[in-house]
Amino acid sequence: MTNTHIHQFDAVIVGAGGAGLYAALEVAEHMENAAVLSKIYPSRSHTGAAQGGVGAALGNREPDSPEWHMFDTVKGSDYLADQNAVEIFCHEAIDTVIELEHLGLPFNRTKDGKIDQRRFGGHTKEFGQGPVRRACYAADRTGHMILQTLFQQCIKHQVKFYSEFHVLDIVIEQGRCVGLVAYEIATGHLHIFHAKTVLLATGGSGRLYKITSNAHGLSGDGMAIPFHHGVPLQDMEFFQFHPTGIYQMGILLSEACRGEGGKLINGKGERFMEKYAPTLLDLAPRDLISQYIYEEIHMGNGINGKDYVHLDLRHLGKDRIEKKLPDITDFVRTYLGLDPVKDLIPVQPTAHYSMGGIPTTINGEVLKDGVNTVLPGLYAAGEAACVSVHGANRLGTNSLVDILVFGRRSGIAMAEYASKNDYTPLPPAPEAPVQSRINALMTRPLKESAARIRADLQTQMMDNCGVHREEKGLTQAKNKITEYRQRFEAVGVRNKGEVYNSELLETMELENLIDLADATVQSALARRESRGAHARQDHPKRDDKNFLKHSLAHKNDQKTDITYKPVIITKFEPKERKY
Ligand SMILES: Cc1cc2nc3c(=O)[nH]c(=O)nc-3n(C[C@H](O)[C@H](O)[C@H](O)COP(=O)(O)OP(=O)(O)OC[C@H]3O[C@@H](n4cnc5c(N)ncnc54)[C@H](O)[C@@H]3O)c2cc1C
Repeated sequence: MTNTHIHQFDAVIVGAGGAGLYAALEVAEHMENAAVLSKIYPSRSHTGAAQGGVGAALGNREPDSPEWHMFDTVKGSDYLADQNAVEIFCHEAIDTVIELEHLGLPFNRTKDGKIDQRRFGGHTKEFGQGPVRRACYAADRTGHMILQTLFQQCIKHQVKFYSEFHVLDIVIEQGRCVGLVAYEIATGHLHIFHAKTVLLATGGSGRLYKITSNAHGLSGDGMAIPFHHGVPLQDMEFFQFHPTGIYQMGILLSEACRGEGGKLINGKGERFMEKYAPTLLDLAPRDLISQYIYEEIHMGNGINGKDYVHLDLRHLGKDRIEKKLPDITDFVRTYLGLDPVKDLIPVQPTAHYSMGGIPTTINGEVLKDGVNTVLPGLYAAGEAACVSVHGANRLGTNSLVDILVFGRRSGIAMAEYASKNDYTPLPPAPEAPVQSRINALMTRPLKESAARIRADLQTQMMDNCGVHREEKGLTQAKNKITEYRQRFEAVGVRNKGEVYNSELLETMELENLIDLADATVQSALARRESRGAHARQDHPKRDDKNFLKHSLAHKNDQKTDITYKPVIITKFEPKERKY
């Protein structure tokens, strides 16, 4: 039996990325008490790795409007985004960016002292007439600056931080979320947090794939936990591959490279995007560019016939490359031994962003079924959630907007709920299910290795549920996932210690990844069309008649079932996407 501790807070926030921190700040400013739990030290959250920028129609460099931003986001989403949410998102983007500036974020500046803005994929003026400068940025360290600014403000407002606390379960009682159970990594002790409200802001799940831009800890825990309690996962088949990951490593080279004027070049030395997107060229949305890179590779136009293309920044000049893209320059010099000032950079699409996640209202309340019933007390925001503003494909810079706008809205909603409701009592021994899972893993004989299953799963997802998909490969992936689940039953843990037992925690993360892979593959199998990031080779056309709807994956014991719910369309009827 492990030591157990009990805490009580109005709002308990899981995740110290931009979404979690903005929510915590709002709760603290509304005089309710807030705790933030993070399995890594807060300032190491993946938001800190975001490079290129945060989109807001400030119009500081040239005319812009939130209506154009809305149009671009809806078109970019391949018409699967909920337009009521997108409208709020594009208007509030402006307020949140200005609020961040006032909180101290050091943005790059124009000559007359305004926040500077640059171009990014899919962002246009006058409803698609050409690129527009909408991305507010701080060199290529925008996320780092957001994270530091919000972290400092949270400390100023006395938010309580529990760093290196790994959340393993939520507690549901009388139909409400009343708290959660966390594992303290330094001691192996269990902690019960009794709460009026809980926010899941645990980020993405890029570790589903072998080649990914995502940090090691992005195993989608916050999506898997409510899924185990019957909450569906929405639109999981839409996983974004960013076109420019460093070849074979997946480390991201931001779209800001192309925003600053970088070009993609194939093995014949051609700027191949001229063929596919004559207006936006290399700044077409990511889903399309990644699919075109694969097409070029399949036609034998990869570099030396291999599975990558080149990113060319050389014409930008040393000064611009080093000033506007300092981290990118460092990555290329460090990891490849190449110099972007003189050399072409080998790139391939890398698994980057989960458009799907926990379904929520525009105030972050978690929806537990297909008719939008709220699960009281439970909230989700950021990459773990699906509002849905990104639909089938997210535009660059729109995730940072998402975490800020909906992190903030969730915090406000949680403070309001906490001020009006009392604590619902905890059930007896809420930690018991977690305790018995830990005991089982620690005591059963080690017949199978978690690392081996994880590597197999990541390769399977890369090969059969990546940029291109079809029935045969997806069916194989589905069967393999069933096999991984069976093999997992024989996984044991060699390290029996209580102090920093990362082997135990990584094994529990793998269990989450297996469930998320299943939800992703089953949703992808059922969607017999191509839309956004979901490119079915056997169903190459978008099919609005049958599939203009959100998928919902539900866990029923060991089975995953798929149902659907309607998309909210207010201003922009679906059209063919041309760039
Ligand atoms: C390399 C890279 C560059 C990017 N660049 C951009 C960009 O320029 N513009 C843009 O808009 N988007 C960008 N994105 C996407 C964007 O950064 C992310 O989608 C966004 O930052 C996610 O924020 P979040 O708050 O949802 O989660 P994260 O910042 O990922 O934070 C997740 C938090 O949850 C915690 N956590 C997770 N599981 C648990 C658990 N079980 N117990 C306790 N804590 C847990 C973690 O410790 C962490 O604190 C980029 C992403 C990457 C990977």
